[in-house]
Amino acid sequence: MADFETPALREYPVIPHLKRDATAGLSPFVAKPEHQERLGFPGELLDNWEDVAIAKMGELLEKYRALRVYLDSCVKCGACTDKCHYFIGTEDPKNMPVARQDLLRSVYRRYFTFAGKYFPRLVGARDLTREVLDEWYSYFHQCSQCRRCSVFCPYGIDTAEISMAAREIMDAVGLGQKYCNEIIGKVHKIGNNLGLPGPAMQDTLEGLEEDIKDDTGIDVKLPLDVEGADVLLVTPSADFFAEPHIDGLIGYAKVFHQAGISWTLSTYASEAANFGMFIGSYENMRQVSLRIRKAALDLGVKRIIFGECGHAWRVAYSFLDTLAGPFDFLDPRYPVPQHICEFTYDLIQRGALNLDRSANDHMVVTFHDSCNVARASRMGSMPGGQFIIPREVIKASCNNFVDMRPDTIHDQTFCCGGGGGLLTDDLMEIRVKGALPRMEALREVQQEYGVTHLAAICAICKSQFAKVLPYYDFPMDMIVSVHQLVSNAIQLGTKE
Ligand code: SF4
Ligand code: SF4
Repeated sequence: MADFETPALREYPVIPHLKRDATAGLSPFVAKPEHQERLGFPGELLDNWEDVAIAKMGELLEKYRALRVYLDSCVKCGACTDKCHYFIGTEDPKNMPVARQDLLRSVYRRYFTFAGKYFPRLVGARDLTREVLDEWYSYFHQCSQCRRCSVFCPYGIDTAEISMAAREIMDAVGLGQKYCNEIIGKVHKIGNNLGLPGPAMQDTLEGLEEDIKDDTGIDVKLPLDVEGADVLLVTPSADFFAEPHIDGLIGYAKVFHQAGISWTLSTYASEAANFGMFIGSYENMRQVSLRIRKAALDLGVKRIIFGECGHAWRVAYSFLDTLAGPFDFLDPRYPVPQHICEFTYDLIQRGALNLDRSANDHMVVTFHDSCNVARASRMGSMPGGQFIIPREVIKASCNNFVDMRPDTIHDQTFCCGGGGGLLTDDLMEIRVKGALPRMEALREVQQEYGVTHLAAICAICKSQFAKVLPYYDFPMDMIVSVHQLVSNAIQLGTKE
């Protein structure tokens, strides 16, 4: 499968032994000049990159006040050290969150603090050298910005923000990551991460309509660019072609059909994902978000609903209004934006859907809380809605549901290992190793309760698990979309 060893699942997870530099030099491919320049970054490493990097760091310290607080306030208590899935899986001490922060903090101290300027060795300050830059490139791309460490930090230091700042500085000097930057360029040019043009989308959607008709005998539509529809559905483009994502898309379509609510997808805003967040670029995040605003205005919709995608929901829930608002042209009776699980849950609560749980009786399901949904957003109006609502949708759709160990779910959930722009084959080793804690928790419920399926509401988690599960001897089709369960259970045409 690959030229690295898959970690053994441990019966009693313990703090790993340290393997110094175990993943040093493990880095993603560097962006090519055309990928960089399309996003407004220098094409390649600038001659005066050191000066530009320090100037950029100064700018970020002014712009993001929390960054300076995070860099100043760590007391090295150690509470975060064993909380990162990449440290647990790789045993490399630089993957301890505090050590990852120190890669940037040491340079911050050297150039921006009195003690670091005059007594660098006393305060662990160091010059920004090429060696340091390479270390940044490697280890800041071994952080999925999942924020698990921040849950355990008594000061709330958010390593994800530090990792985003580091990536922003690297882009500014011409050292960007190919995977993220190439994808963002495709969204700017075509509208989605895949570079899928409108006619190809139309073909795919028509094919799905035929599949649903063959399965159910019912004409369920997947409309595209329909002016005057009530709802604009913005969903990750993986929903148009990848497994199990596509089964989730079929589920959304069935829910809209059964609820009798007119909806549409958009070719212009055919991507919910927003990789601008992964590279810490406000401007790129804004441009991607503005496509959604324009599509909503052009189509004259009343509501915007997001499909199953973790970081897309984080950007939408937390920043959409700042990035692309105000959305005062939408119907004020509905939240802006709304999550598809929230929408389906509301219909279930009102008795508007007939769900036959026994349709999923061949499954024993557990649920993976996606980190961006769990720790960087909410859902619905109730506290903890982001944990409760997806579980309630699952439980309304199947009879057999169990949760994984409490310290691996809700706000303590482990990242799937592929978030934050790491879902690329050039980082397969870190992806497999980073998945270890989730795989261990999954093995426990498989052995104890006979769990057969792992449900998720994130496009990245679904793709990551489909790839990584076989490394740990689980079947790849064990991963399912939450709306795939709804799709199986929904009884079409049984309600007025
Ligand atoms: S944000 Fe997540 S991936 Fe990054 S250091 Fe913290 S726990 Fe690890
Ligand atoms: S838990 Fe917070 S204060 Fe303690 S070492 Fe980690 S980042 Fe520093």
